[in-house]
Amino acid sequence: MSTFARQAARNVVLPSSLDEAVAALAAAPTAVPVAGGTDLMAAVNSGLLRPAGLVGLGRISEIRGWQYADGHALLGAGLTHARMGRPDFAALIPALAAAARAAGPPQIRNAGTLGGNIITAAPGGDALPVLAALEATVILAGPQGNRELPVSHLLTGMDPLRTAELLAYVRVPLLHAPQTFLKATGRTGPGRATASVCVVLDPARRGVRCAVGAVAPVPLRPLQAEQWVASLIDWDGERALAPEACTAFGEYVAASCIPDPLPAPDGTPGPELPPAAIQLRRTVAALARRALGRALA
Ligand SMILES: Cc1cc2nc3c(=O)[nH]c(=O)nc-3n(C[C@H](O)[C@H](O)[C@H](O)COP(=O)(O)OP(=O)(O)OC[C@H]3O[C@@H](n4cnc5c(N)ncnc54)[C@H](O)[C@@H]3O)c2cc1C
Repeated sequence: MSTFARQAARNVVLPSSLDEAVAALAAAPTAVPVAGGTDLMAAVNSGLLRPAGLVGLGRISEIRGWQYADGHALLGAGLTHARMGRPDFAALIPALAAAARAAGPPQIRNAGTLGGNIITAAPGGDALPVLAALEATVILAGPQGNRELPVSHLLTGMDPLRTAELLAYVRVPLLHAPQTFLKATGRTGPGRATASVCVVLDPARRGVRCAVGAVAPVPLRPLQAEQWVASLIDWDGERALAPEACTAFGEYVAASCIPDPLPAPDGTPGPELPPAAIQLRRTVAALARRALGRALA
């Protein structure tokens, strides 16, 4: 065993409640929380991270399930991808279940958690565009109590985790309407997203919400494309949306997320998009068109 591994093994705490975990982090601010370890241990193994100690979250049963709360679902940060992929969860939040089923091979889905996916905040994190489209909020537990903020504030670093804070729950509105998640990986079988799209219908507010993952450091919301297509949908269900409108939506979303280079100050057109960006734009357009088509089917 290496010196580091011996030292780390001495400094592992396994609390059984959120309060104990927060207290353990407050007592040892250089310790790092670990849930499934699929991201964290990869960083340790590649030498990128040498935590002075670990606070294991795996025994905290209060964050491993979910509960209903006033038209919302309160999801524990310790929910695994495998658990979120099951049919009962899919009936509740179909797009998050679809993202969970697409997140890596089975070993990763069995161990990896919703909380770890959010805190790692990788551009290709599959849960992230879904949470952005659903306008989810996160509940953080810390030494001073709980605080709640939009998931986007955490992902963009606008309001980061504070010392000894843990991600405890994710609050997701239950919309009882179709929602889809589609992902392109550029390979056959499980893989990280090269682009992903979530489309959520909100019939009560006659709204369409869309988020695009993996093409930027954080999920992008093409707000104008959302409003445009929502105005074309017959929300009373008498008239289907024309296929051309779905295609135009896909292109609108893709051009919003991967825009053309700006013209020069003197008005000369900007340079051409590089071929890789043109290909990515096509991928996003196809995903958004299909995601909307399936949600409306
Ligand atoms: C081979 C492989 C394939 C993968 N494929 C995919 C994929 O297709 N899609 C995808 O989205 N991801 C993928 N991942 C990434 C990873 O599995 C997910 O991001 C997973 O959800 C991370 O969860 P975890 O519980 O393992 O996090 P951990 O590794 O335990 O932790 C990750 C980070 O979050 C922090 N953390 C964890 N929980 C909390 C909490 N409750 N509060 C505060 N901080 C916390 C940790 O300190 C650490 O910084 C893959 C990883 C591997 C190794």
